[in-house]
Amino acid sequence: MRDGEFYSLLGDTSGVPYDYIRDVAWTKRTLERWLVDKAFRDRFAEDAAEALRSIGSPLTPEQVRPFLGDKEEMDGDDREILLSARRYRAFLMEKLDHRAELRAHGQTTTDRRMAAWRARQMKRCNGELGASRSQAIVHAPAAFELSKGCTVGCWFCGVAAPKFDHTWPYTDEHAALWRETLRVMDATIGEPMRDAFLYWATDPLDNPDYEHFLTAFHEALGQCPQTTTAIGHKDVERTRRLLELARGRGSKVDRFSIIAVSALHRIEEAFTAEELLHVECIPQNKGAAKSFRKSNAGRARKFAHKRSDELVPEDASSTIACVSGFLFNMVDRSVQLITPCDASDRWPLGYWVLDKGTFDTGAELSELIETMIAKNMRTRLRLQDPVRLRPDVKVTVADGELRAVSRGQHLTLGQGDLDDLAECLTRGMASAEELAVRREKRAGVPLTQTLAWLNSLFDEGLLDEEPEPPASEPAPVALGMPARAAS
Ligand code: SF4
Repeated sequence: MRDGEFYSLLGDTSGVPYDYIRDVAWTKRTLERWLVDKAFRDRFAEDAAEALRSIGSPLTPEQVRPFLGDKEEMDGDDREILLSARRYRAFLMEKLDHRAELRAHGQTTTDRRMAAWRARQMKRCNGELGASRSQAIVHAPAAFELSKGCTVGCWFCGVAAPKFDHTWPYTDEHAALWRETLRVMDATIGEPMRDAFLYWATDPLDNPDYEHFLTAFHEALGQCPQTTTAIGHKDVERTRRLLELARGRGSKVDRFSIIAVSALHRIEEAFTAEELLHVECIPQNKGAAKSFRKSNAGRARKFAHKRSDELVPEDASSTIACVSGFLFNMVDRSVQLITPCDASDRWPLGYWVLDKGTFDTGAELSELIETMIAKNMRTRLRLQDPVRLRPDVKVTVADGELRAVSRGQHLTLGQGDLDDLAECLTRGMASAEELAVRREKRAGVPLTQTLAWLNSLFDEGLLDEEPEPPASEPAPVALGMPARAAS
């Protein structure tokens, strides 16, 4: 029991009354159908009770209407909202709490350099992407691709997955390297490594041995990675076995990306609403309700003009990246250090690539990870570091105050030669030490005070840490081409 009259549904549900599960599962199913299927929305508008009957829903229209855009009803007095709607709302809150726990969990990373770096990237993302988008990013510590490319080929793929090439079978040799890889990463990351997942620009079910990797992950780390697939409808018996495997190993939430109405119909035929209580069906299909716009990142950028009504507006931030840490491809044994950013011509995939390398053994991986951390994850600003605010931070000086504002952050400063400080910070004209000396000379601000202040800007993620382009960096990745953001 959670919060008095509400039950937790993400854990063991064996003690939850059937009518409670039915209310939540059918509210979820009805809303998913409504979001995905325009024909159902039209039927619902004409005769809501008949539309619900047509999908076998035991609910009345009043029980789902609070979630169909009538904000007043959602915000109304709880006593006026039907019990089933309150149960569903509690379920939504539980999922939001789960996401917040994942974000907080990452801060317990064993390596203190990585923990500080991750915390800084979370703050940067808050400023760069804005609070609402950045709150949805869990900043998982690692993701593993178990194939090269993806068979699905979605036009909107936010990470521009290349065409499917081949997979990484679970042979004895690969299984040994897999266990070794997890051991090395567990030693560096610790507890939060359990929040890693086994896909990126890949569909996990493209790998016929995905379930073996999942099981080995659970055996090594005691937690089952979350699965997201766009082909769960193709072989429903395999999907059923996978969901049972994942649920039996404590997976809390899994996801189906719905790329066609027919795929949702197939899924609904194969699984009851109750069986999919923990599986979110995410509307990605043509004709999905307008509230579900796709990020203008990856391959979608190629279609920004043609299909702008399906993408988030240009002035909003866009990324689907959710890892601040290590992105593996096990086929070519590569690893990249990445963190989310607003998708741009330079970073069309919506994440920075700070470093990359390859490995053949656990020992090589251990050395590679240590090198990447030492090189890229400073915990303090050094005297020689150039200090420049991020390019998305706008600086003004007015009424004796310097104001630095971005989508999700702002700061004010009211001491010293502010016009000069603003110029130094926006143009990156000086190192930390040079700026501190300059302020002492020009405005009498003690050197240690400026250094401490600059370090606080660094900790807040306000200073520009975007990786410099290597001398040989080619033009930005051609959109729609195989995904690699930097050479
Ligand atoms: S969105 Fe997912 S399923 Fe679609 S192409 Fe990209 S990786 Fe594949």
